Amino acid sequence: MNFKISCQGAISITSFVDFLLLKLMPAISDTIWKIMVHKVAGDMRTTCPEFNGNRANLEKYILYSLAEEENFDKYWQYLHHPESFFRQYIRDHIRRYCSEKESEKIKTFLKIILGDIKNTILSAIHMSTKVAKAKGSTASGWLDLFCYHLQCKLIFPRRDLISIEHQEVMDTEFLKEVMSKALYPAMREVEEDCSRKPIDEIVPDIEKILSEHLCGCWKQCPFCKAICTNTIPQHEGDHSVPFHRPQAVNGWHRHKTDHFVIDCCTSSVASDRFFIVHDLQEFPYKKYREAGGDFATWSITPDSSTQPYWKWFLCHFRSKLEKKYGKKFTKIGSIPDLWTKITKQEVLNDLQK
Ligand SMILES: [Zn+2]
Ligand SMILES: [Zn+2]
Repeated sequence: MNFKISCQGAISITSFVDFLLLKLMPAISDTIWKIMVHKVAGDMRTTCPEFNGNRANLEKYILYSLAEEENFDKYWQYLHHPESFFRQYIRDHIRRYCSEKESEKIKTFLKIILGDIKNTILSAIHMSTKVAKAKGSTASGWLDLFCYHLQCKLIFPRRDLISIEHQEVMDTEFLKEVMSKALYPAMREVEEDCSRKPIDEIVPDIEKILSEHLCGCWKQCPFCKAICTNTIPQHEGDHSVPFHRPQAVNGWHRHKTDHFVIDCCTSSVASDRFFIVHDLQEFPYKKYREAGGDFATWSITPDSSTQPYWKWFLCHFRSKLEKKYGKKFTKIGSIPDLWTKITKQEVLNDLQK
């Protein structure tokens, strides 16, 4: 008689544990990836110089890699669709981080996370059993305790366990033993599943975290397309950027001619020249804000210093720019000889200052 009861009890505890683990495993997987996303994003922010500052810092690296690659289509994307260009750049970096040599890091992270979760579950089993035993709790009581001890680490809804809560599990000590033993192969299975998971699936989540840290205002200077460096997306006050560019970068040309304007907006706003908006209205550069719209919301201070970067860019992609904008570097838009002598190495060195 006694043997029969204990036998039934054993079967019932085993199926109880089987069911519990069946429900627990997807919760473990979900938790692993949630933690992994934060671990990778955090590690990239400390170890990749591109991502350990604000967006202006990242932009320096972007300009550097654009110059290194010399790909005009990429420059075009960066100039005219900067937001999506930055997103793509971040995504490519995450993919590279997650593959090749860095995947070793992912494996290490996975081991650490799995170890933590396993310890959490084991201690939840231990604590729940201790309390349940003292109180003489039912299966339902043990499950309440178990879910309570897991809740800070694992997203594991108690309501998923309704179907087993009425089972007669009285021998909580035996339950603890079976559960602890069954946990090891279950965790191994989860680990294998996770190792097989294509890392691409977590790239968008990592991207979201990194992008939040690298957010900011995306407004571009109406003359030269330089991006506002304010770190607040909907900031108050004027848009501004420390360095503007020759206006030809944005296709500016002299009215009714096909001659590019190669002046930088910071020197234009100090000049007595005029510019024309929408082919009809003329405004003095000195009072550029009167042109309204984006012109009114930018603070462009007169300054004669310029960076070599965009001078080199205009020289290097001269014919591509002429073709794309349908304008010419001629007459007032002639490229000065000095500009053509700027080397790519000088430009790269200047960016590293
Ligand atoms: Zn500008
Ligand atoms: Zn701004």
